[in-house]
Amino acid sequence: MDRLADLGDGVITPAGENPVAIVGGGWAGLACAVELAAAGVPVQLFEAAKQLGGRARRVDWQGIPIDNGQHLMVGAYREALGLMGRLGTHNFLERRPLELRVPGFVLRLPRLPAPLNLAAGLVLARGLSWRDKLAAARLMHDLKERAFRLARDEAAADFLRHQQQPANLVERLWGPICIAALNTPVEIASAQVFCNVLRDSLAGDRADSDLVLNRADLGLLLPDAAAAFIAGKGGRVETGCKVEFLARQQGGFRLAGPDVLAERVVVAAHPARLPDLLGRLAGAEPVLEQLDGLAWQPILTLWLHFATPPRFPFPMLGLGGGQAPWAFERNDLHAGLVAIVVSAEGPHLAKPAETLRDEYLDLLAAQLGPLPTLLGWKSIVEKRATFACVPRLRRPDNATPVPGLYLAGDYTAGDYPATLEGAVRSGIKSARLILETLT
Ligand SMILES: Cc1cc2nc3c(=O)[nH]c(=O)nc-3n(C[C@H](O)[C@H](O)[C@H](O)COP(=O)(O)OP(=O)(O)OC[C@H]3O[C@@H](n4cnc5c(N)ncnc54)[C@H](O)[C@@H]3O)c2cc1C
Repeated sequence: MDRLADLGDGVITPAGENPVAIVGGGWAGLACAVELAAAGVPVQLFEAAKQLGGRARRVDWQGIPIDNGQHLMVGAYREALGLMGRLGTHNFLERRPLELRVPGFVLRLPRLPAPLNLAAGLVLARGLSWRDKLAAARLMHDLKERAFRLARDEAAADFLRHQQQPANLVERLWGPICIAALNTPVEIASAQVFCNVLRDSLAGDRADSDLVLNRADLGLLLPDAAAAFIAGKGGRVETGCKVEFLARQQGGFRLAGPDVLAERVVVAAHPARLPDLLGRLAGAEPVLEQLDGLAWQPILTLWLHFATPPRFPFPMLGLGGGQAPWAFERNDLHAGLVAIVVSAEGPHLAKPAETLRDEYLDLLAAQLGPLPTLLGWKSIVEKRATFACVPRLRRPDNATPVPGLYLAGDYTAGDYPATLEGAVRSGIKSARLILETLT
């Protein structure tokens, strides 16, 4: 508190030069705070929940640290991986050349330079006909020719149909990639964002397509180390501290709740919270109008605790069946833990949790053989896991029409779907916009 001055009316303000407040301690807010703190700017970050991390956080399950939802990264996540490198948590990551295994289908990219890795991977893929393989190669070639830019965005399913992609290829390769990356069913997902994902993963450098698996809980990956870094640079991180709304005051903003003043504010909260936070700020109306166009998609993660670790041939296995569930071996958290993640909306969410558990146990056993005794299970549904990544979304910029007010989050303007990379990029972008105003 040595940087803070009491104004006498219960309002506390930072006395440092150009103080910045950040609302929200998810990956976007933390990335923003780290970037600013590293540049010597005193930051104050307020997080409403008891713990940092937002939609990518640690959860305690009877003394075992698990994740609120199973996450997967890829080598193309340059900013997120760079941030973890800066904080020294990249040792908690495991890189593997891309391998997609679903019943009846295997695609493995060998360690060859791009684009040979994709070509060889397609040639050797199991479960695709020669017609499918040629169609996939042709699509990637055509997209490369036009720098992955579509003249007009449309639903990914329509785009794939117009590109004459065979149904088997869509069902086994493009559909699962789309739903996993965009968390939006292929029938309504944005073809342009789907192509952006292909550009940065399958068509990027060889290492871009690597799967990057977290081998520690999500709290260890970023939030814990980021909070320590920010505090080490003289910043302040407060959890359990909800900002109720922002109001203009003394050339800056007043943050109701913690009752602090700040010259600049980065709002890094979930977009659904923005009407409450910005509703009283003159000039913020266009931002709120833009957010009206966003809808949400859920993600379900089923955690299974077995008496002994089931044997996985690869740490990530597609289980087949509707909704393309993926199973992850998570012995890093606790021996015998498995996470099954199911993206997007679908009929699975209407089923009782016990029914889903039994269905996924059957699918897992069909791949791994008889399973060890199940000691416990837990289902976590994040209803607003991501924005629905539909065609032609208008996403708000980081800079807003309100001077001194910035946004950060996976939903801001960018060519990525709602991902850790999108959140980190957005946080860093807001920090850099602020740094430009300070120089
Ligand atoms: C189950 C699940 C699985 C996912 N899987 C993947 C994956 O495999 N790969 C991938 O790249 N991405 C994945 N994602 C998406 C990724 O987690 C998100 O894109 C990312 O975490 C969003 O970060 P954010 O900082 O933009 O927002 P958030 O994480 O929502 O952070 C916002 C923070 O603001 C806080 N806050 C809100 N209101 C206030 C207030 N008034 N005052 C103070 N604080 C406030 C919230 O508590 C929260 O901590 C997944 C998401 C979920 C939910």
